[in-house]
Amino acid sequence: MAKVGINIATGSLQKDEIIVGIDLGTTNSLVAFINSNQQPYALNDMEGNTIVPSIVHFTQGGETTVGLEAKQHLIEDPQHTVYSVKRLLGKSFSDLKNIQQYFGFKILDEDTEGLVKIKIYDKYYTAIEISALLLKELKARAEHYLKTPVKRAVITVPAYFNDSQRQATRDAGKLAGLDVLRIVNEPTAASLAYGLGLDQNEHQNIAVYDLGGGTFDISILSLHQGVFEVLSTNGDTFLGGDDFDKTIINYWIQQNNNITEQILANKSLSQWLRLKAEEVKKQLSFEENLVLHENGWILDLSRAKFNALILPFIERSIECCEKALADSGLQGNEISNVVMVGGSTRIPLVKQNVSAFFKDSILFDSLNPDEVVALGAAIEADILAGNRSDILLLDVTPLSLGIETLGGLMDTLIPRNSKIPTKAARQYTTSIDGQSNIKINVFQGERDLVSENRKLATFDLRGVPAMPAGLPKVEVAFQLNADGILTVSAKELRSGISQEIEVKPQYGLTDDEVEKMLLDSLVNAQQDVETRMMVEAKTEAQQLIYLTERFLEKNADMLTTEEKDGTKQKIEDLRVSLATEDKNSILKYNEALNEFTAPFAERVMDKAIAIAMKGKQI
Ligand code: AMP
Repeated sequence: MAKVGINIATGSLQKDEIIVGIDLGTTNSLVAFINSNQQPYALNDMEGNTIVPSIVHFTQGGETTVGLEAKQHLIEDPQHTVYSVKRLLGKSFSDLKNIQQYFGFKILDEDTEGLVKIKIYDKYYTAIEISALLLKELKARAEHYLKTPVKRAVITVPAYFNDSQRQATRDAGKLAGLDVLRIVNEPTAASLAYGLGLDQNEHQNIAVYDLGGGTFDISILSLHQGVFEVLSTNGDTFLGGDDFDKTIINYWIQQNNNITEQILANKSLSQWLRLKAEEVKKQLSFEENLVLHENGWILDLSRAKFNALILPFIERSIECCEKALADSGLQGNEISNVVMVGGSTRIPLVKQNVSAFFKDSILFDSLNPDEVVALGAAIEADILAGNRSDILLLDVTPLSLGIETLGGLMDTLIPRNSKIPTKAARQYTTSIDGQSNIKINVFQGERDLVSENRKLATFDLRGVPAMPAGLPKVEVAFQLNADGILTVSAKELRSGISQEIEVKPQYGLTDDEVEKMLLDSLVNAQQDVETRMMVEAKTEAQQLIYLTERFLEKNADMLTTEEKDGTKQKIEDLRVSLATEDKNSILKYNEALNEFTAPFAERVMDKAIAIAMKGKQI
């Protein structure tokens, strides 16, 4: 077995093993590494493409293709071709209700706060599993190119990603067989690619303007002694190059006598037009005028007309910049640099407008805007590998800290490698009626089951007034000071009851023990995530049975005999499937019970039960 040295003070690995940087994007993903010339380099395929479209296609037999090959299926097999999965990561169905129609594949409509599931043929997938398939493809690409196993990575996420979205990204990495050393903010990575933040003595504020295919993000960062602080973010989750393509198509339709019906009736024609629009758009970044005569169409567009068509979209992005700047508390002249990210920032009009808005800043646009985030992630990976002695890494916590949740799962509040001091808080609820003592078990380690981790402390939050399951709101907060001392506090927010303890996380652990815990977690990572998903499916099913039975009892007089008998039968089916240890079967009967009860549950469901179905239970 390979031996890995870990510097306990920095959490960095002391070994010449390659750590890759991964940009896991909404539309496209990339993987990069630091080459022998010490330069970040994005890895390409045989055809020279560095970009892997973030698309996965499933066949009926459950086989998958990823990237360009999967993209070919988008038109003819949309139900089984998953795109934009990043929009689903770490989200529940209720978070996504409003954008559900945007997806061509099936998202399960469940009244729970659990992670959303996608149904493909008769199998259920979480966004974590689909993202893991994308990451596996990137891992394979890196391994093919570097001719060595790649096990460690830094993955980037948008600065606005919350805790649950970051955790989901980490889990996807684990499932792909990657040890995710750190989750890095995309704007931070983009800045690093330009060398910003590498000088420990600099202090400056920068803006990162990221206009991709489908999303726009603006982030204002403060850089101080090598620390990147996100001061504010803003953006539009539906604004980007795709909008420009659509306006070009609309313009051409007008120019060609409005033959909209012909296009609507013909999917491959509309796809052809979309590709032409994108092609012309890209060329207009370098040319002034373009005319295509193809398939009986006259497709012409001048740079001036194109600019007029897209100006309203660019103005929308500038409004977001105004808001972000206001939220950061800075004046425009306090921003010294603007980093340009995303393919659409190649458009001259975009550059002009951004320059005009941040008029006292230098525009950084010399690197490939599609690659800049992955390149920066590779630099961060290199720093973590300890290859840049000039850069001082801040103290980090070597092992993750978290608490036990229902089913014996580890819920990490402070991930390993987080800079310290740090703090984190999360809300939990109860799973049984009338719980007045709520036990909180604090653990340290990387495994998904707490039984495999190290218990640091346990305490009871006593005297919580009796409430139905799911009603208490327990906020657990972790505070880790610069000496590595952890303070855990818990507060039931409805009653105000609270308690606090101090724990020394590293007490009694030698470097060798930390190393062993990390190695164990690497070896078991994939199995761990699969076990976690199984436990989650079971817990969800058990909770659903508990709640449905209680619901039947309470509301018997409001239900018809068919409704009652049918529900009992579906509960029985779910119980039988629980014994099978087959995740897909459990999820299937879970869905069947949910679907069966939904119409009348809605009719009679009382508030307490609705709330009881929300939140993770301790
Ligand atoms: P990203 O999501 O960052 O990969 O950005 C992809 C978007 O950038 C797509 O909408 C592309 O059409 C667009 N794009 C790529 N190259 C150019 C270019 N030269 N001019 C204009 N847009 C471009």
